[in-house]
Amino acid sequence: MGEPLRFDGKVVLVTGAGQGLGRQYAIQFAERGASVVVNDLGGSFKGEGQSTRAADKVVDEIRAKGGKAVANYDSVEFGEKLVETAIKEFGRIDIVINNAGILRDKSFARVSDLDWDLIQKVHLRGSFSVSRAAWPHMKKNNFGRIIMTSSVAGIFGNFGQANYSAAKLGLVGLSNTLAIEGRKYNITSNAVAPTAGSRLTETVMPPELVAALKPEFVAPLVLYLCHENTQESGSLFEVGGGWVAKLRWQRTVGAICREASTPMTPESVRDQWEKITDFSDSTNPTTSMETTKHLISVLGELDGFG
Ligand code: NAD
Repeated sequence: MGEPLRFDGKVVLVTGAGQGLGRQYAIQFAERGASVVVNDLGGSFKGEGQSTRAADKVVDEIRAKGGKAVANYDSVEFGEKLVETAIKEFGRIDIVINNAGILRDKSFARVSDLDWDLIQKVHLRGSFSVSRAAWPHMKKNNFGRIIMTSSVAGIFGNFGQANYSAAKLGLVGLSNTLAIEGRKYNITSNAVAPTAGSRLTETVMPPELVAALKPEFVAPLVLYLCHENTQESGSLFEVGGGWVAKLRWQRTVGAICREASTPMTPESVRDQWEKITDFSDSTNPTTSMETTKHLISVLGELDGFG
């Protein structure tokens, strides 16, 4: 058994920490020595209204157990304000957990502009805004840990969640690029797709499943990923009920659907379809450079490029 994972001296900002998963992250970080900014706008699950109560309650809970926490009530759209609270109260920012979220589920044809925009604003723009505000501080400290909250609805799609799926998979792209840009500053970024009982899931899950899938069975992964000794970055994990798994891309060998000096046609794609979709001998690409290199070799083979 190794040493317990501690966060003494670290400052953690958890967005949407007034309840559900965010509350659990905040409590667990505080229990392990971190100073925590408990951010929550305190609105409804559809993104309406606001209140200071949600964040205050969690701050009180942490302080009652001897932990260090302060509240912030701004919307994640205004990332600078959230990070300002961390700097003003604790003098630094080390870890950002982008967790705040709402739902506006509708079947695709019924998604209004507002349903679309609000979801992008909270999940995608919010995570961008908070992470960008924290970034210069992390660079300066040569240390940072960022978590983006994705969803299986984004990874696989889900009926009635077109707006949410788009934002949630967008966050994986954002995380991947932050992992690349953060590498030389010891800033890591990972995405998690959690499943837990909360006010967001109680509308779609039976009550016994909501009760059984505790946020406590998700948070430890997020803490592990954010520890100073953890180097994992640019990865995506599914987590729920105590089960944790890593996801990755898989690519078929594929097929070249044209010959030198002849036009490419839909028929040649049709004729190669079996090969294009055959996952035997597949690979697991991890960088966009691999694609560029491969395309240059295809052009070299067919057209004498390079
Ligand atoms: P939750 O509703 O219990 O908690 C979300 C919190 O975010 C709420 O307290 C809410 O007030 C806060 N919030 C909403 N908009 C905000 C804003 N603009 N600024 C600041 N705070 C805001 O939900 P949860 O289930 O704990 O979800 C947490 C995150 O996990 C969300 O991003 C959600 O999409 C994601 N997620 C959850 C599940 C699940 O099974 N619970 C599955 C996949 C993804």
